[in-house]
Amino acid sequence: MPWKGQKDAYKIWLSEIILQQTRVQQGLSYYNKFVHLYPQIFDLAQAPDDEVFKLWEGLGYYSRCKNLLHTARSIVAENGGIFPKTYDEIIKLKGVGPYTAAAIASFAYDLPFAVVDGNVYRVLSRFFGIDLPIDSNAGKKLFFELANECLDKKNAAHYNQAVMDFGAVVCKPQLPTCQACVLRKKCLAFKKGLVNQLPVKEKQLLKSNRWFYYFVFRYEDKVLINQRTGKDIWRQLYEFYVYETFSEIQWNDKKVDTFLSEQLGIFNYNLTTTSSIYKQKLTHQNISGQFFEIKLEEIPQSLANFSILSLPELSGLAFPRFINQYLEKADFQD
Ligand code: SF4
Repeated sequence: MPWKGQKDAYKIWLSEIILQQTRVQQGLSYYNKFVHLYPQIFDLAQAPDDEVFKLWEGLGYYSRCKNLLHTARSIVAENGGIFPKTYDEIIKLKGVGPYTAAAIASFAYDLPFAVVDGNVYRVLSRFFGIDLPIDSNAGKKLFFELANECLDKKNAAHYNQAVMDFGAVVCKPQLPTCQACVLRKKCLAFKKGLVNQLPVKEKQLLKSNRWFYYFVFRYEDKVLINQRTGKDIWRQLYEFYVYETFSEIQWNDKKVDTFLSEQLGIFNYNLTTTSSIYKQKLTHQNISGQFFEIKLEEIPQSLANFSILSLPELSGLAFPRFINQYLEKADFQD
């Protein structure tokens, strides 16, 4: 992306305002047009309103465009066209919140402010194994403080870019490549088998359709079990390794293999059963899902935190009805 590695605060600000509420692929052409027509803040400040609004057409949220013009003109009129150089001054600009201020301050001037975007939330919540919802007030505060604690203060621009890129490329929302991850040995989510359950979002927990894909790992004559601890349905109940999504996945052997190898480091296994779709209706949620029974040759590090129980021991544990339906099937006991 052309704004990566950019040191010109004006261009960084331009890219950040364009990318608020806009996908990168869509914002890119707008950014290029703006930089081409208005290479310096003076050019933007002098441009007629109609011309700038025409250029903005299609991006929506026109208040962003109004703020853009207002800010460019006030910086030229009041500060001789010199972009503010401190976080406190930057955050006072119209349309600039803490995230954008931190991005401009660190990328343009290497000031020690952590940028906390969706990628950063995800990396931190997984690495530190934190299940506080990232969209709750308490969660936002905690992750903001944690991000600033972790920040390499002498290298803020590189550090911020690195964590964001790491979240986008390695610690991805779906199917992160844990097996190839340099942080794996210290990552709590990986150690506890919680990678797919983090980060937690309050809004997502309220979604009405949820898909639970259970991997029923069997080792010798035993089964790997975990207890649900997060603030969610079925708290304290037991379950198998779960991969939750908010839409259906069409699984096939290759997808299962990629999931097991890349994410859990499981290479030697035998997929013995793929169940049909199970369903359960809760008051506000429809749960659907599937069970994959996997015979393991050994217990991988990614599942080291799971309890390994014999079948008779399972009968003493409380499971959600969704799982009980499955357990009651005769062929599971074989
Ligand atoms: S091990 Fe997996 S979850 Fe942990 S930081 Fe690496 S990619 Fe993310």
